[in-house]
Amino acid sequence: MTRLTRGAAVAIGAAALIVTLPSSPAQAMRTSDGAARAQCFEPRDIGAGAKSADGVRAADHRDVTRKQQRAIERRTKAILSARASSGQTAVTTGGSVPVYVHVMADKYGNGNVTDTQIANQISVLNKTFGGQELVGTAANTGFTFTLAGTDRYYNSTWHADRQSTTYRARTRQGGANALNIWLVDFKYLGIATFPWDYASNPSIDGIRVNFGSLPGGPIANYNLGETATHEAGHWFGLYHTFQGGCTATNDEVSDTPAQSSATNGCPAGRDSCSLPGLDPIHNYMDYSYDTCYNQFTTNQSSRMSTMFSAYRS
Ligand SMILES: [Zn+2]
Repeated sequence: MTRLTRGAAVAIGAAALIVTLPSSPAQAMRTSDGAARAQCFEPRDIGAGAKSADGVRAADHRDVTRKQQRAIERRTKAILSARASSGQTAVTTGGSVPVYVHVMADKYGNGNVTDTQIANQISVLNKTFGGQELVGTAANTGFTFTLAGTDRYYNSTWHADRQSTTYRARTRQGGANALNIWLVDFKYLGIATFPWDYASNPSIDGIRVNFGSLPGGPIANYNLGETATHEAGHWFGLYHTFQGGCTATNDEVSDTPAQSSATNGCPAGRDSCSLPGLDPIHNYMDYSYDTCYNQFTTNQSSRMSTMFSAYRS
């Protein structure tokens, strides 16, 4: 199968968002298949459903406007300061995360990844979140991952990520702190939910990852398992490093230089934004190749602990 660069579909996804974004988000969140999609603007919902040969990672989380971004920051601060004033620890660094892997194969067994691939995927999560791809520069986030369960389904509809609200609700396991990974076959590398949406929509919380992106999978340039790292980054509360474009606020993380747009491949020296710093092309929250990725930053690491403490513990 032909696949995709992470960068190319950004424009497509963004255009679709612009065209269809509602003037009143609250109203538009009602869809014919129920309220469960409310917190998750998925690419399919915004009319970009056709299979394409580019841009798997486009629009891989719900769109968050600048205004919503500000509201999320305020809400997080309020939660943590309420906790601190009642004498509780506001933020705990890192933590142990149980992982439930749901293998959504089709009725012929396509997508039925091996237990070894799953074990290797967990190792990649531990390596990347442990800062071990660039020791001394990459942040050790303090998060560790343990496989808590694997289940396998042979359902061609679910395999193609159709009825995702239903299959996630039926198969999800664990509480707010449990990372659920659904392995499916779709035109994206992955899609994630954010921690601040958990309370209003717990049954779909987790990440959907293309089974072909697991270590040893068939997607060229994206088969070292670092799609799961990227999607888990969103699940912990990180935005893309190009969130908000070439602006001072950007991704709410001060040590990731602002970018105008997503990176494709691994273009050394790329500098898409006039603000200080080269584009963080090696950051897990850009769209670069798996081989190009090697780090989270210190401030991304502390943001993840902050968000995990506020919404997942
Ligand atoms: Zn993403």
